[in-house]
Amino acid sequence: MAMPPRLQDRAVLALLRIYGTSTRCLQARHASPRLPMRQVSSLVARSAGFTRTAAFPAGVEEGQSSPASHGGSRRSYASSTSPAKQQQQQQQQQPPREIAVLGGGLTGLTTAYYLNKFVPSAKVTVYEASDRLGGWVDSQRFAAEGRGGSEVKGIFERGPRAVPALGQTNRYDDLVLYELVQDLGLQTEMFNIPRGEEGLPNQYIYYPDHLENVKLKMPTKNDSLATWVGAAVNILHAALTRPIFKGAPTAFVNFVLGYGKRSPAGQASGAVADESIGDWLLRRTGRREPVDNMVGAMMHGIYGGDVWKLSVFQSPMQSMWLKDNLRGRGKLVFEKDLDLFQDLYYNGDAEYKKMVRNSMNFGLIGFNDGFGTLTDAITRRLKTDSKVKFKLGEPVTDISYNEPTGRIKIKTSKSKTGVAYDKVISTILAKDLYAITNNKLPSLRNEQATSIMLVNLFYPKRDLIRPHRGFGYLVPSSVAYDLNPEGALGVIFDSDHQDFMRGANNADEVRGTKLTVMLGGHHWDWLPRDRWPSRDEAVLMGRAVVARHLGIPPDEPLAAAGAKLCWQCIPQQHVGHTTRMQGARGELERAFRGGLAVAGPSYTPPGVLPSLRAGRDAAMAAAGKGYRTHKGTSRMTHVGETGLGQFRAGGEGEGEGEEADDGSSDGERVLRSEVLPFRHGYARGLYPEDE
Ligand SMILES: Cc1cc2nc3c(=O)[nH]c(=O)nc-3n(C[C@H](O)[C@H](O)[C@H](O)COP(=O)(O)OP(=O)(O)OC[C@H]3O[C@@H](n4cnc5c(N)ncnc54)[C@H](O)[C@@H]3O)c2cc1C
Repeated sequence: MAMPPRLQDRAVLALLRIYGTSTRCLQARHASPRLPMRQVSSLVARSAGFTRTAAFPAGVEEGQSSPASHGGSRRSYASSTSPAKQQQQQQQQQPPREIAVLGGGLTGLTTAYYLNKFVPSAKVTVYEASDRLGGWVDSQRFAAEGRGGSEVKGIFERGPRAVPALGQTNRYDDLVLYELVQDLGLQTEMFNIPRGEEGLPNQYIYYPDHLENVKLKMPTKNDSLATWVGAAVNILHAALTRPIFKGAPTAFVNFVLGYGKRSPAGQASGAVADESIGDWLLRRTGRREPVDNMVGAMMHGIYGGDVWKLSVFQSPMQSMWLKDNLRGRGKLVFEKDLDLFQDLYYNGDAEYKKMVRNSMNFGLIGFNDGFGTLTDAITRRLKTDSKVKFKLGEPVTDISYNEPTGRIKIKTSKSKTGVAYDKVISTILAKDLYAITNNKLPSLRNEQATSIMLVNLFYPKRDLIRPHRGFGYLVPSSVAYDLNPEGALGVIFDSDHQDFMRGANNADEVRGTKLTVMLGGHHWDWLPRDRWPSRDEAVLMGRAVVARHLGIPPDEPLAAAGAKLCWQCIPQQHVGHTTRMQGARGELERAFRGGLAVAGPSYTPPGVLPSLRAGRDAAMAAAGKGYRTHKGTSRMTHVGETGLGQFRAGGEGEGEGEEADDGSSDGERVLRSEVLPFRHGYARGLYPEDE
């Protein structure tokens, strides 16, 4: 399977330009960088307050609220009580009338949508640096000539394509998506692939030199004893014989037996210290191979990031890690998630409740015409209200606090004198915000984001990836350099997704083999922007990857191809993120007096669902509203005026992180799976069913 010489030369040239002049890449691949552990003092405080709770008191009553929780959540930072200051304080008790949202991506649009919903009288202006809305959500249609001259049509997703439903987790962010879908009338546009099929049905890791299916068939509780025994034998055999599972059996046993449960740093200080996902798992399992091979590959899929640098506290393993340090059996759940559930579910109508109930069986969720369906629908809705304005192609260049008026002034590329707002919510990257705030937010200076080169390939010929079929595959850093010189993070089998979608909703796309190759991520963090491959070079590199890993001939005719450099697209929450966010929270309070808030994946986990949740939360807090729960209306203490309320330092009890009078807080509890409503297969749970 030789690559045609001309193509080969160009692909090699691109590689040489990237790697040849620097030894840094090779060094980075062989040394596992370590950052020092830092103490996360907030966890100490939170751990100390931890208790095991069986259930809430029965009797959820809708609409109860504490008087203190309405409208008056904004904290006054004025020390003087002069009449002018008093007037300013009174103004601050009112919901803001003029609000700016920085960034027109998914988080910014969601924030603007909910601001418009929660404070309909407010004027909302969305500033977007580029000339299009949607940010990384980018569904692009293509039409090309296929085999025999027939027309080939389809969609290249150049950003998110499908999100995993949260039915098997302890979170409820997906309920925000269902609310938006209902509000915007997108019920028939949304599709879901039922749970169990979302693996489609296989998930692969390329290791050490071939694709290994890591989705082992698990029996269900309805299966017979013989099926269980057969499955156990198969799993054991796979675990003991397949290279990808090397070290996994020992790691599993160690983990279950509680090996290395308390960190040395934690034991010494009596505190809980942040650490990387890799360091935590190595400590708890005693084996490095499963971390490098399996978990490392998984982190490439989620963050394009380095398992030895990403903070475990901010990762999908957060609740497991926290539980190491807490007592109690069951699932660790955050109060804010249970409160979100109550707010949305109990205030939803019958149709909404049905959607939430059905979501228990969702595996993957997406939209027939791509995720752009959602951002387009939000934009269309916002454009119907003259109080919402969009400023496209107008990057914000400066943000400052105006002491006499208590307002936030922003300057843009087109407005040098500036415009003042009562409230500004920034959804742009943390380090970009640092750059436009005159060194007022130094804790954000070193927040990192990684870049990905996304290559979309559409071959008119079907079944090019057989015998493999499934979600796609990920490539860990432990794969030898000469088997992955392009720095591929993984390949998504889009056409297999499409087949499953087609079954569900007859999506109209000509069949073929559609693949997305993800290149770069942390492998190329050191590479200056002007040395990244061009579009054509990236397509060649993508083809070289699928030739080597999947055996697709490099000269196999393509009907359509594209590449997009997603520069600094995935924020990396490295070890110490929590401490830096605690710092940023204080800096925002001091420099902007609650007038500037932040939201989005620089602060909370990356992904579509967390972005939707962050946007809704930010708008709700800015509006002075809260989740309506059986305890009353929550004060959104996990958001607060800065958006960073959840990052309060240990011992801090005042201000926005304060425990609300009504008892709502962002604490956590350990609960049995079966009491979590609509999670882990249980429909009836903590709260009485009201239907
Ligand atoms: C290739 C790729 C694939 C992904 N796949 C998935 C997936 O399958 N599932 C999933 O859940 N998530 C996925 N994600 C993550 C998800 O897309 C993001 O978390 C989400 O879109 C982030 O939205 P955002 O609005 O916070 O940020 P962005 O989309 O980055 O939006 C920020 C906006 O701010 C603008 N801006 C920047 N600076 C300024 C300024 N100074 N003034 C004004 N505007 C400014 C930018 O132009 C941008 O439009 C993927 C991301 C990428 C890049």
